[in-house]
Amino acid sequence: MGRFFSQWLILFFSVLLLAPPASRAADYAAERNDMVESQIVGRGVRDPRVIRAMKTVPRHLFVPFWSVPEAYYDRPLPIGEGQTISQPYIVAFMSELLELKGDERVLEVGTGSGYQAAVLSHLCGEVYTIEIKPVLHKSSAARLNEGGYKNVHARAGDGYYGWEGKGPFAAIMITAAVDHIPPPLVRQLKEGGKLVLPLSKSFLFQTLAVVTKRGNKVEVRYSIPVRFVPMTGGALR
Ligand code: SAH
Repeated sequence: MGRFFSQWLILFFSVLLLAPPASRAADYAAERNDMVESQIVGRGVRDPRVIRAMKTVPRHLFVPFWSVPEAYYDRPLPIGEGQTISQPYIVAFMSELLELKGDERVLEVGTGSGYQAAVLSHLCGEVYTIEIKPVLHKSSAARLNEGGYKNVHARAGDGYYGWEGKGPFAAIMITAAVDHIPPPLVRQLKEGGKLVLPLSKSFLFQTLAVVTKRGNKVEVRYSIPVRFVPMTGGALR
């Protein structure tokens, strides 16, 4: 009788352990949908491809496990090494500024968590992304690989100098603050291509700048104020 009961007890708890928690089963789809509707569509992002990408990429898989409950909040989050994953709205807004159609080659400088690269992977043909901190490169590259983002190519290095040999790029996004437009990145940009970057002389706040390459000149348009961690490496030389 006792043995029979304990066997049932073991079976009962095994079933409980195997059953996925409700939030995991739902893949945070409801939270993600709310995030997009209130923070992104609600603030004026209109590109349907950007909206779809933001509703698809599981942001909670790109933050440290202790931040998972906050993954869909309206704010940036720490990702280790003193760096941050950007606020969802900024990721969507910067992606929209690149005006991608679907078959372009895009360079991202500052892979961080890999989240922005994953979003871009839904919007263009190939994403090339560079991270200067080896620890962050390793973890984000593994995460992007596990997530099956086959068109994202990640490497460790100083993105100030771009990715020689893979350009020219139709679009480039810098996700770390700079006080000038990096000339090597303009060189690796296609004619008419766009470079989006947080630009400022002070490293506390920046303005998003959209740079368009026109022959050997650039056209610069200023957008909203933002706050990014500073770009290091060649940017400080
Ligand atoms: N796009 C990231 C967030 C970027 S945080 C995301 O989606 O999570 C800025 C990142 O830029 C940091 O990880 C920082 O280490 C990196 N970085 C700073 N200077 C860099 C440089 N010169 N080259 C490449 N990466 C750089």
